[in-house]
Amino acid sequence: GQCTIVCPTGSLCLKPEMEEVWKSLTDKQTYTVAAIAPAVRVAIGEIFGMEAGAVSTGQMLAALKLLGFDQVYDVSFAADLTTIEEGSEFLERRSAGVRLPHFTSCCPAWVKYVEHFHPHLIGNLSTCKSPLQMFGALLKDRLPDLVQIPRERVKVVSITPCTAKKFEAKRPEFTHDGIPDIDHVITTIELGRMIKAAGIQFNDLSPESFDMPFGFSTSAGVIFGNSGGVTEAVLRFTMEKLSNKPLAKLDFVEVRGESGIREASFDIGGSTIRFAIVHGLKNAKMLITKIAAGKCAYDFVEVMACPQGCINGGGQPVNHVYNYKQLRTRGLFTAGKMFHLHKPQDNIMVNECYQQYLGDVGGAKAQQLLHTHYKNRRRQTEDGVAAGEGAGVAPT
Ligand code: SF4
Repeated sequence: GQCTIVCPTGSLCLKPEMEEVWKSLTDKQTYTVAAIAPAVRVAIGEIFGMEAGAVSTGQMLAALKLLGFDQVYDVSFAADLTTIEEGSEFLERRSAGVRLPHFTSCCPAWVKYVEHFHPHLIGNLSTCKSPLQMFGALLKDRLPDLVQIPRERVKVVSITPCTAKKFEAKRPEFTHDGIPDIDHVITTIELGRMIKAAGIQFNDLSPESFDMPFGFSTSAGVIFGNSGGVTEAVLRFTMEKLSNKPLAKLDFVEVRGESGIREASFDIGGSTIRFAIVHGLKNAKMLITKIAAGKCAYDFVEVMACPQGCINGGGQPVNHVYNYKQLRTRGLFTAGKMFHLHKPQDNIMVNECYQQYLGDVGGAKAQQLLHTHYKNRRRQTEDGVAAGEGAGVAPT
């Protein structure tokens, strides 16, 4: 096609992936499910003339059903799962005083940046897969039983604000027996193109709902889509766990905001937990340098590569309204407020999944499906030898 002339290797060509999705949707033998990332719902409407941040979850789901998806699931479900796994991992590290500061691992661009440029930090990254990759592994393992369809006929299509997820889905550790956990990754922009190509009048659609059980989420999963969201979700989980009583307040406004590097501390049970929230890799680099120089110390650091987080990912529509990032962030919190449940540990479907299938948090099955390892990708240089894999930094 035309793309191949522009890009001889096809690596810059997004079109073939959409064609694969069309094929999957029209193949009657295939059971195709959509896994929709939190931030898509506050940006897809912009492609159809809505204002930035308009929450168009219902229309988006209706459009996906019309396109032929058999089930539409919410990656926020997997974000709740991530918070439970990652929050527990963080508490373990903290009580053992190892691998601190704990760095989040849900942004594949950040993970790859660490692998290339700061491999000595690999041991400090959470071993949790990104919510999307957790979801892919879980769906590929669970759906064949639930819907009685062989694994090779289940296709998981991720719809995401993120172009880095295209690389992530192709990492060899996320393919099992030749079958990838996530079959295709399409961006918000690409979904918009598909909806237009199908002649669907997005604005006139009657809203549809997510399908159960993997479409069930709490607001903590939804706010993952903005900078600070992972930290806030982890706070809702860990604070309740550490204090052993219900949270008095759900909103941790201290970790929200627009500044590229933010800090917040919380006293709990006589000790202080120190958080840092970073967006943009330039800011991440600055923070790493400061930590290495002993100029600051944290227990938990959230890093998102895109300015303001996934609401502003590379696969989101371009918007020239000056405050579009704030509007999308506000949209995410608005979408979250419409939920009944707000703490990941209250997600009844996730809890049922642990009881019936996954077993213990961080247990053998969870380790197998939900956790991963990283690779030192630094090239040997003349003036330095790459740091060892999983070395970690000294506890702070
Ligand atoms: Fe992808 Fe950007 Fe979100 Fe990272 S911050 S997961 S690169 S959209």
